[in-house]
Amino acid sequence: MRSEYRVGATKLVLVQGDIRDQDTEAIVNAANSGLLGGGGVDGAIHRAGGPRILAECKVIRAKQGRCPTGEAVITSGGNLTARYVIHTVGPVWSGGKKNEDVLLCRAYRNSLALAKKHNIQSISFPSISTGAYRFPLKRAVPLVLSTVRDFLEEHHFQEVRFVLFGEKAFLKYKEVWEEIGTAD
Ligand code: ADP
Repeated sequence: MRSEYRVGATKLVLVQGDIRDQDTEAIVNAANSGLLGGGGVDGAIHRAGGPRILAECKVIRAKQGRCPTGEAVITSGGNLTARYVIHTVGPVWSGGKKNEDVLLCRAYRNSLALAKKHNIQSISFPSISTGAYRFPLKRAVPLVLSTVRDFLEEHHFQEVRFVLFGEKAFLKYKEVWEEIGTAD
């Protein structure tokens, strides 16, 4: 399943699929602050991308320590089709009173800003924090899509793609975008 929209001159795509298979210039990893791999989408990206990504993450760790929640770092894509992986750390859901909403928005915004800084034209996101980190999908999606829409009103990409693993997530993203996305 796939739907295409526009925000100004940027193509916004929602697709059901696997982030590892995407042909955008960058893919985003829902990393943890240790940056050394983990479960879920993080483990899957490291397995598919090979040891080069982990080696680069270790260099970043040695230089700056852990990656704070809401921040993002960049490595190459190793064996992936994508040239870059942007590793961002979403918040662990703990009831909603620990600044989780702000931190989730920040993870998306900082990933986009880092992509821009590297002159990246196309980028794929997974649904950050809504797996093992338990951020409720219903609460996350309006925050995420309005954050990305607002960023794209100021900055242009060729394409921003959301890659949703399951049908439920895909349908939620689609429903919310059709409510809050721009008309054009
Ligand atoms: P987090 O710890 O940030 O919650 P997870 O990896 O547990 O990260 O899950 C985040 C989301 O990514 C979940 O919705 C999960 O279904 C999805 N996901 C898991 N594997 C993949 C994949 N290979 N491609 C795209 N999305 C994936």
